[in-house]
Amino acid sequence: MAKITPSKIDVAVIGSGFAGLAAATTLASKGLKVTVFERHHQAGGRARQFKCDGFTFDMGPSWYWMPDVFDRYFAQFGRTVKELYDLRRLDPSYRVEFSQGPMDVPADIDPLAQLFETIEPGAGGQLKRFLSEAKTKYDIGMGRFVNKPAHSPLEFARLDILRDAPRLQLLRSFSSHVRKHFKDPRLIQLMEFPVLFLGSKPQNTPALYSLMNYADTALGTWYPMGGMHQIVEGMVQVAKEQGVHFEFNCTVEAILETQGKTSGLRVGGVNVPCNNVIAACDYHHAEQHLLPKTHRRYDEAYWDKRAMSPSSLLFYLGVNRRIPGLKHHTLFFDTPFDAHAEEIYDDPAWPKDPLFYVCAPSVTDPSVAPEGCENMFLLVPTAPGMADDQEACDRIYGQIMDRLEARMDVPIRDHIVYKRQYDHRQFVADYSAYKGNAYGLANTLRQTAFLKPKLKSKLPGTWFAGQLTTPGPGVPPSIISGQVAASEVLKASGLDGIPETVNIEQLEVFEG
Ligand SMILES: Cc1cc2nc3c(=O)[nH]c(=O)nc-3n(C[C@H](O)[C@H](O)[C@H](O)COP(=O)(O)OP(=O)(O)OC[C@H]3O[C@@H](n4cnc5c(N)ncnc54)[C@H](O)[C@@H]3O)c2cc1C
Repeated sequence: MAKITPSKIDVAVIGSGFAGLAAATTLASKGLKVTVFERHHQAGGRARQFKCDGFTFDMGPSWYWMPDVFDRYFAQFGRTVKELYDLRRLDPSYRVEFSQGPMDVPADIDPLAQLFETIEPGAGGQLKRFLSEAKTKYDIGMGRFVNKPAHSPLEFARLDILRDAPRLQLLRSFSSHVRKHFKDPRLIQLMEFPVLFLGSKPQNTPALYSLMNYADTALGTWYPMGGMHQIVEGMVQVAKEQGVHFEFNCTVEAILETQGKTSGLRVGGVNVPCNNVIAACDYHHAEQHLLPKTHRRYDEAYWDKRAMSPSSLLFYLGVNRRIPGLKHHTLFFDTPFDAHAEEIYDDPAWPKDPLFYVCAPSVTDPSVAPEGCENMFLLVPTAPGMADDQEACDRIYGQIMDRLEARMDVPIRDHIVYKRQYDHRQFVADYSAYKGNAYGLANTLRQTAFLKPKLKSKLPGTWFAGQLTTPGPGVPPSIISGQVAASEVLKASGLDGIPETVNIEQLEVFEG
């Protein structure tokens, strides 16, 4: 535990994930004195990085989607992505291993549409129509919805928003929306994977979230050389440029209250006075464990009723050989999709025959593995709140390795020189993650916008940010969440908040 020297702080931020970094930097850029308290020795939260035996592993996010969000974020502080990290677009964007064989998803729309056409006559045109609608949702959502604090439905009761609401397709299910356009099971799985992996069953997800297909397919899949942690390093650099102070190895033990208002934090037994706190750690942890009981808006029964997004069973692997034909991102959809979805969402169980995902950044980036080696992680989505079962984890590892080796047609297990397992237990230990969730709340209609846990605490002066509040899970939404929470603090301090609308003309457009 680092020694804290209490000094005057305008805002204390708990956690240095994307939300905490964005909140702190936004506030500091407006002249407030901000300190970030982080439990770990490094920033990044779920996007931390570790190095071992010459391998550099990103621990969490690996898909860099919505590049416009990062561009706009850094531009607010007079910086560009280019100055901070070397971003490359991946082509193919990713590979999908179906039972019928592999499919490489090209980065450009026209070759993708041609590929769809070879699988299902007419599907190329359908893809363009689907993406054109998805672009509308993306533009409306990103331009007018996500930057709102979502305190109440009234914020959305403006004429222009109400006029656009039907185009967001909030009341239609993602599953039926996809099936309206495509019949081939492979194309359906391809379109459904972003919502399944990050949120909830497509049947329970509003068609609004096809905006993620626009992000994935049209805006592209990118990679910052050196790893996803480069984004964190860029954000920390900009935070420091704006004057943010960091206290690492500091676990916040309580949010303090005096006379009904926020009066500081307790960190390592020391009281740190300040009138504003942004809790950018897991919401449930902050509200149920750090806030005084009388100021909690929710109780354990509320949390137990939330639909959580999946946890993950991860294996970080260092392999002392190259694997010919391996892609940067490969999704293994060679076993039944619905069965695994049920085991995550309906009838929680360790999956019998899991879908999984392989990330191998060494395919793009030689800096993350020793020469002649591959760096990869395998990710299996699992139900949140599972009981520990190492035997099940070992069984799953064996199953997915069998499938990976069969598809790659090379022995891999014999060449593993580094292996680390990471599962729901570590999500709880490292992030105090409710039920060991990896990505926060599921993206269901009942957990969208003002129906999410509120950004504003019942205790005046305390705010929440991060993937469990508005706008939701994922790196770009977490950044936006931090900025929206910071904006609320600015407004409460009599300063100008950040704009709630974004000029959508600035977005790179795809005209379907
Ligand atoms: C395996 C995995 C893969 C993912 N893949 C993708 C992807 O490809 N693309 C994508 O966009 N998103 C992805 N995500 C989701 C994305 O990583 C998260 O939505 C995002 O990183 C959440 O950021 P956050 O700031 O809300 O929370 P966190 O990153 O969890 O940050 C919270 C911080 O608070 C700290 N903290 C907690 N309690 C305390 C305390 N009491 N005192 C001090 N500090 C505390 C924690 O240490 C942590 O640093 C993935 C997530 C995981 C886990």
